[in-house]
Amino acid sequence: MNDGTTRREFLGSMAAFSLFPFEQEKPDLILHNGHIVTMNAADPVAEAVAIARGRFFAVGKNADVMNLVAAAVRKIDLGGKTVLPGFIDAHSHPAAAGLSHLRMVDCDLRSISAIQAALRERAAKTPAGEWVLGFKYDDTKTEDGRPLSTADLDAAVPDHPVHIEHRGGHTVYANSLGLRKAGIDEKTPDPPGGKIDHDTATGKLSGRVAESAQDFFDKAIPHNFTRDDHREGVKLISKMLAKTGITSATEAQGNPTDLRAYQDARDSGDLLYRAYCFINYRFIDAMIEAGVRTGFGDEWVRVGAMKMVCDGSISERTARLSVPYEGRPNDYGILVMTEEELYTYGRKAHLAGWQIGTHANGDVGIDTTLRVYERLQRESPRHDPRFRLEHCTVVNDDLIARIKALGAIPTPFSTYVYYHGEKMRYYGAERLNHMFALRSFIDAGIRATQASDYPPGEFIPMMALQSEVTRTDTKGNVWGPKQKITVEEAIRVGTINGAYASYEENLKGSIETGKLADLVVLGRDPLKENPSTLVTIPVERTMAGGRWTYES
Ligand SMILES: [Zn+2]
Repeated sequence: MNDGTTRREFLGSMAAFSLFPFEQEKPDLILHNGHIVTMNAADPVAEAVAIARGRFFAVGKNADVMNLVAAAVRKIDLGGKTVLPGFIDAHSHPAAAGLSHLRMVDCDLRSISAIQAALRERAAKTPAGEWVLGFKYDDTKTEDGRPLSTADLDAAVPDHPVHIEHRGGHTVYANSLGLRKAGIDEKTPDPPGGKIDHDTATGKLSGRVAESAQDFFDKAIPHNFTRDDHREGVKLISKMLAKTGITSATEAQGNPTDLRAYQDARDSGDLLYRAYCFINYRFIDAMIEAGVRTGFGDEWVRVGAMKMVCDGSISERTARLSVPYEGRPNDYGILVMTEEELYTYGRKAHLAGWQIGTHANGDVGIDTTLRVYERLQRESPRHDPRFRLEHCTVVNDDLIARIKALGAIPTPFSTYVYYHGEKMRYYGAERLNHMFALRSFIDAGIRATQASDYPPGEFIPMMALQSEVTRTDTKGNVWGPKQKITVEEAIRVGTINGAYASYEENLKGSIETGKLADLVVLGRDPLKENPSTLVTIPVERTMAGGRWTYES
């Protein structure tokens, strides 16, 4: 203020009207005549919002909000449509996924012949000898009932090396030329922690390579992404997320390159969601040295937790369990980092003021991770550390009590029951009642989040609601019905809880005066919808910071 009014006087006069104290008196935009589900417990439903400089300036009844307005202010009639706060995907891999979508063939297709056709098309546009790369292949989702083979890939693409990543990220498939370029032949021994599959009848290579054996390809495939490519990847995935109503996402395995890509995309106007960028533990020394810690950044790009990995995956059945996988009596899954390693890196981060997010899926993985967090808090107590348990899939009463006592935050897979139902049988009906355990978390007063883990899981928030509310897969099988939650609870999990997980509950996650204007306009009201059709509710518009990031 430079007109003689002091800032304090000005703010005081604004407070009398119970508006957010902006240094400007009128909003830029009014949305009215809506059914606005605010997720603000004090004022759960509104009809209109006024937005100024990217934040909610007023939230309330049509008449009250419209009364603020000079005729010149732009107004949009929502026609009674339902509005929710923008969704927050608390664990995802969008930067890497964006790059993959930019460069690779999306193999999320329903038959081997469809995959072959897509690869053939890409090969036709690729100079001979250069790699044809694919991702999001899922052996359980093709109608053929068998995995891709080298023969399938050779038949489709004989003259280019081919490399296809499984959706779960722990196995890859290659054609003959790809295997040769990677230096793999029939006599190549399995490396420690890895497996090169052979046809059991003929002994020939099957084309499938698992876990650490994937490193053969890492050395052979050039990773020549430019700085622009990284920005373009963020731009591409931004559009995909915005289309589904997501306004914030955690980059759950980030590194300094991702952090730069997010800043580049923000500066060029291409970043359409707010990124909470985790930093992999391998970079923690450099980050601490630079004076950076969790929370550094702005409302669009913020440094998140330090990321570590305790055990394996759910979709590819390597999570570390106390009771073996169904039908595999000696298979308990794997531990990726030792407890001592988790503690050593965790201590460094904890003392430097970082939040910590550790991938922990199985009950043994979660127990191990909690032991590390409990020890850190015992030895060096910190106020409000908000330790995160990434995925936190298989739980029990003891683990839940310890999560609650520690104030830790689980980020369970939101769409797995619905989308990956065919993989649930490996866990068994009884165990499913203790997996993705939102009912248990909510009842215990634990603030769990919505999380896709994309690419392994789908990121559509409406699918997350349906999965969490019905616990039913696409074929109608119900998995773990004891963990069902209500639609309203599922919305809370996907909005305000996500904000809490990144220390931003005062900034976003609900439609409240003063918070960031992040919202989604839906074609139908999820609170009135049949739960088994939630996934079909269309997203009409998404807004982040007062700007439409998607309009249908
Ligand atoms: Zn992940």
